[in-house]
Amino acid sequence: MHDPMKILLAAPRGFCAGVAMAIDVVDILLDVLGDEPLYVYHEIVHNRHVVDRFRQRGVTFVERLADVPAGATVVFSAHGVSPAVRSEAAARGLTAIDATCPLVTKVHAEAIRYARNGFEILLVGHADHQEVIGTRGEAPQAIRVIESVEDARAVRVASPDRVVCLTQTTLSMDDAAAIIGVLQSRFPQMRQPPGEDICYATTNRQHAVRRLAPLAERVLVVGSATSSNSRRLVEIAETTGTPARLIDDAGALDVDWLDGAAAVLVTAGASAPEDLVHDVVRTLVRRFGAVVEQVIVDHESVDFNLPVSLRREMERRGRNPGTGRIRIDAPGALQRFADAEGLPVRTVPLTVDGSSPPAVTGGAR
Ligand code: SF4
Repeated sequence: MHDPMKILLAAPRGFCAGVAMAIDVVDILLDVLGDEPLYVYHEIVHNRHVVDRFRQRGVTFVERLADVPAGATVVFSAHGVSPAVRSEAAARGLTAIDATCPLVTKVHAEAIRYARNGFEILLVGHADHQEVIGTRGEAPQAIRVIESVEDARAVRVASPDRVVCLTQTTLSMDDAAAIIGVLQSRFPQMRQPPGEDICYATTNRQHAVRRLAPLAERVLVVGSATSSNSRRLVEIAETTGTPARLIDDAGALDVDWLDGAAAVLVTAGASAPEDLVHDVVRTLVRRFGAVVEQVIVDHESVDFNLPVSLRREMERRGRNPGTGRIRIDAPGALQRFADAEGLPVRTVPLTVDGSSPPAVTGGAR
């Protein structure tokens, strides 16, 4: 008789503070606008389910501001936009609500500051990602996008003593370190901003996968193919030697691939809703009789205020924006799910040696 499959649920996983804030912005606007149409420029966050759920509630997603009727309300997504987009929205008389994550805005501010001071900016990231397009738009004449170690080896700069390196917030820490290492060896005087650009949520989710994937025989990352940080989680799991797959939802589970695995690590990208994780857990429990253990690798307590543009719009319409603080609590949501399903879930901290953690700190009974 085999032991039942163990589901190791990584914590932290799923929504970060920026995603939670952006989703709340759209939620609140749907309520505030009533029957008025609401437009979102690009996917509000890179998750198919989030976007589809908003579409079903009447939100129109556009790839060009020209598709938003003059005078309508448009939300800029969590990934940020370039100044050209903000100007176009103003010129067309749109009410623009900016749901850009404050940690992306921080990188924009760094780009503006260094460009003003005459620096060449090497922006490490994916050239076609919305965040990089937006950041680059702050100072296109000063910014060069570096996508790879090869780019880092080939890039030429006019003044090696006036170079700074910025990064996309959702990169793999290992990939970014390799690229930045090459740039540093080529331009020893290159500056880096005092704070990390790769954000806390990306760092923590990658750290959890790096620690937990070796304890599992398969890794499932809940997230969409468009989500940069979700794809990085799959890559990181694979670098530890554990096969990993990205799945949008429980419908994409391949039970043959999971059959016989003693332990499966389940995590989720920063834009993946927690209820999709619960669906995956439920399916694995029913199919394999799996037992669930949530492993806390890091604690997160970051949250953001509602954007000023939304608060102003609410006040203009006589609505009280309240404290506007958005909180996320995946472990708490898991406990409510487990209680509702009558599912035993142990929640344990990761031990120093990364093996079979002993202490139970919560979770459903
Ligand atoms: S992944 Fe990081 S930068 Fe992106 S929205 Fe979340 S907190 Fe902000």
